[in-house]
Amino acid sequence: MSRYKQVLLATDFTEHWEHVAASAHDFANKYNAQLSLVHIIDNLPITESIYGPIIPLEVDLTAQLLASARDKALTIAKTFSIDEQHIWVKTGSPKLEITRIATENKIDLIVVGSHGRHGLALLLGSTANSVLHYANCDVMAVRLQDH
Ligand code: AMP
Repeated sequence: MSRYKQVLLATDFTEHWEHVAASAHDFANKYNAQLSLVHIIDNLPITESIYGPIIPLEVDLTAQLLASARDKALTIAKTFSIDEQHIWVKTGSPKLEITRIATENKIDLIVVGSHGRHGLALLLGSTANSVLHYANCDVMAVRLQDH
């Protein structure tokens, strides 16, 4: 019997997402497992302005952000043959929501990217570290090369 039946790809849509997604897809195929996808819209949408980063507190952008994130998730899902019922796009804290969704859906393995940060960045923590810390299942970290 296959050890991994449910694999969850956690994607942040940043430049390296394809590399992480391809690894998750390969892994799921090898184990003949179901591949799912999760994207979490962080609680505080910070945008860049000419004055620096700002948090738009007066406008509720949740609905627009969810719709646009869902579109992106659907495009990725199509590329990697993930059907709609295995896509989760939510708002909240990425580390908490990713691990909550994994537990609720009996995921055996979460796949995340990892930048291999050092020094202060490591002390501040990363999503990959936090997911590893909070997850009840195995976590695969795909090494990302920073340019
Ligand atoms: P980071 O620590 O923010 O550089 O992210 C490392 C990895 O965590 C990413 O490559 C994704 O796999 C995952 N990740 C980060 N943020 C999110 C998010 N908002 N939703 C889903 N996955 C995420």
